[in-house]
Amino acid sequence: MINFDDEVIASPSSTAATPAATTKRISADDKRVINGTTDVNQLVPFKHKWAWEKYLAQCANHWMPQEVNMQRDIEQWKTGQLTEDEMRLVTRNLGFFTTADSLAANNIVLGTYRQITSPECRQFLLRQAFDEAIHTHAYQYIVESLGMDEGEIFNAYNEIKSIRDKDQFLMPFIDVLTNPEFKTGTLETDQQLLRSIIVFACIMEGLFFYVGFVQILALGRQNKMTGAAEQYQYILRDESMHCNFGIDLINTIKMENPELWTESFKAELVGLFQRAVELEYAYAEDTMPRGVLGLNAAQFKEYLRFIANRRMQQIGLNELFPGVTNPFPWMSEMIDLKKEKNFFETRVTEYQTGGALSWD
Ligand code: FE
Repeated sequence: MINFDDEVIASPSSTAATPAATTKRISADDKRVINGTTDVNQLVPFKHKWAWEKYLAQCANHWMPQEVNMQRDIEQWKTGQLTEDEMRLVTRNLGFFTTADSLAANNIVLGTYRQITSPECRQFLLRQAFDEAIHTHAYQYIVESLGMDEGEIFNAYNEIKSIRDKDQFLMPFIDVLTNPEFKTGTLETDQQLLRSIIVFACIMEGLFFYVGFVQILALGRQNKMTGAAEQYQYILRDESMHCNFGIDLINTIKMENPELWTESFKAELVGLFQRAVELEYAYAEDTMPRGVLGLNAAQFKEYLRFIANRRMQQIGLNELFPGVTNPFPWMSEMIDLKKEKNFFETRVTEYQTGGALSWD
């Protein structure tokens, strides 16, 4: 006689899309972010409630690129209202971003997602993957609106050294996870996964995006390219949510698997942050060799150190650059965008209107 209370076979459901072979009802206590053995298709009972809450918050942030009017940007771009330095900045900027969000999407869909065994965390990753598609769409929409050379922009990550260097730094951390053979379950592979998640959340989305964000938002603050700036503002809001989710994910993995957080692992991470700040600073110098928009390289050096400190603290590492301050305090306003009104006051954004929809 079959006893349905017994586990029939206990097998880790990591990388699985099908239920773990068990008939036992799930207890929240048994759920794990990695190497879990509970059924990945049963969202509730929640254990990682923070992930579900971030999923809901991110759905409320929904937006689409084509809703933003690009007419003024097109006029400014095509009638010589931007300086040569400003145009170089926009071109280099899009050169990085047009492919960056594809890298992020592939990393989630083909890599990270398979290894995460908490369905509420998977639910956020599904939303995040769609966000990355929207971001790539937004950059494509800007490139198309301005009539830029698509070949030049989309190939910049092969052709422009400062962009290629950033992406080549990232590639090994994507490749390890997208290898179909990769599977967590040993100290080595668990650390590989955690390292890749840290590189993506704290360095890619948390640091490599920030010179670019500051630049386009600074243009917008001077009433230039306000359509593009508005799109970047929504992207920044999404990315700061992705980064915060990533940090919670990292800290939960650490908590559930304290053996991963060794001294040598931490030392290696410190080296990665150090290198990332150098690469992003080189990118800042390359995108604005003479300083532009009242921004200069020294401010960016300070800003990147400030952000690196913050990311490191958020995951429990010591600050690399004690004593630095934020030279762009206005960026916090941009991140804390309220839904009612955007910073450039070009349109109202409110997606939380589901209750008002009429099907008549
Ligand atoms: Fe992202």
